[in-house]
Amino acid sequence: MDPRSPVNPEEHPDETEHRDARRALPSVDRLARQVTGMAGDLPGWAARAGAREAVAAARAEMARSDPAGIDLATVQTAALTAARRLVAPQPRPVVNATGVVLHTNLGRSPLGAAAAAAAEAAAGYSDLELDLVSGRRGNRLGSLVDKLVLLSGAQAAYACNNNASALLLALDTLAGETATSGLREVIVSRGELVEIGGSFRVPDIMAKAGVRLVEVGSTNRTHLSDYERAIGPNTGMLLKVHRSNFEQSGFVAEVGLGELVGLGRERGIPVVEDLGSGTFVDLRARGLTTIPEETYVPSRVAMGADIVCLSGDKLLGGPQAGLIVGTAEAVNAMKANPLARALRLDKMGIAALDWVLTALLDDRLSEIPVVAQLLEPVDSLEARAKALGAALESVVGGKLDVVVATDCAPVGGGSVPGFELDTWVVELRGLRGASRLAGLLRAAPAPVVTRVRDDAVVFDLRTLGDGDAEAVEAAVQFALTQSA
Ligand SMILES: *Cc1c(COP(=O)(O)O)cnc(C)c1O
Repeated sequence: MDPRSPVNPEEHPDETEHRDARRALPSVDRLARQVTGMAGDLPGWAARAGAREAVAAARAEMARSDPAGIDLATVQTAALTAARRLVAPQPRPVVNATGVVLHTNLGRSPLGAAAAAAAEAAAGYSDLELDLVSGRRGNRLGSLVDKLVLLSGAQAAYACNNNASALLLALDTLAGETATSGLREVIVSRGELVEIGGSFRVPDIMAKAGVRLVEVGSTNRTHLSDYERAIGPNTGMLLKVHRSNFEQSGFVAEVGLGELVGLGRERGIPVVEDLGSGTFVDLRARGLTTIPEETYVPSRVAMGADIVCLSGDKLLGGPQAGLIVGTAEAVNAMKANPLARALRLDKMGIAALDWVLTALLDDRLSEIPVVAQLLEPVDSLEARAKALGAALESVVGGKLDVVVATDCAPVGGGSVPGFELDTWVVELRGLRGASRLAGLLRAAPAPVVTRVRDDAVVFDLRTLGDGDAEAVEAAVQFALTQSA
């Protein structure tokens, strides 16, 4: 812990040099009372915690700089802000106007109607692990596994709490050290040793899984012969990792999953693909003709990998989960690993995922927000952009410039790098700069998050639903009043 910001500054005696100035600071109790006076709706626990934080910060600031430079009003405002942050629900709902369907900072995939299934499962008791017919202990994932099998075409399936754990479980189960094997090796192309956001790095996860990473090929080119040469008596797995958040172009070569599966079969070594983002909807057949074909999970499964794993909350459009599909032998081994218990999916995730998988089997794609957004035709975006543009014109009354235009935006969320969707946007210019305007929109009671490009704030209709227009208008109104 930073010694300059103790949890309870009252317990830490001051250094003599700043003693007088520090005495001028109100006590935590006094400041908490002042905070409650400023905002009567704040509960006492939040006022006290906010006050404690503000006093500690002020003391730290004094230790660093001129003690005379701290004034009471600043400390009070800091305490009030800290207290308000504590009572605000977490995470706070925001309107996503960025056009990035899978925005990592905005919670990746929105669940829409599937959220009700999670809420229902969570609100009361359920038969999560009870077989209602026999009265005996039941299977936690139930028919969810059957649905994954139907959708993917794989022999077997399993789900854990996210894709990072799915990979960890695959490595530990299929290539982990055993009493007789010693440390085993996992062969990966140097072009696939990726870092996904949120500190997920393939080499690190391999170290944690207790396997030895054997890198083959070069950053830009890896050939089948590179894998062949690296195979030895300790090889436990051939691993393919999707480059989810960057693209390679130019003088490049990689080994396809099918070829790798061929090699694995020949040598009796399991082949695993960490696909990252994938979907059970053939998006190419439904109009996204240029989206990379590896996003379609059944086509990956058909190549015969022992395991393919992917995220539940990327292109699939479900809750956070790690989906595992593959051969019965490999999947059953992963299920039986004691580590699976530590990585299990919670009941809300199970309920939401089951809802999404059922909707996919029913072909109710419009009910899965991510899929609906990806597939919305550009003409329908145009009509909605023009309507929003007209609505904003009347809100700003000439004080800001409103332009309706075409644009394109990435899908985001570590899914399909380089692939962009055509879209329609409303651009807003004025209020002394786009980044300031964007900040005011985020500060609105119902925060709106936008793209900022050059001098314009950009509202992208791809991620704005019909129900969001009101919030956007209110946020723009809020920005205008804050600037008045
Ligand atoms: C996103 C991603 C992960 C991490 O998945 P989470 O569900 O966020 O844990 C792992 N590998 C690849 C290739 C990814 O794209």
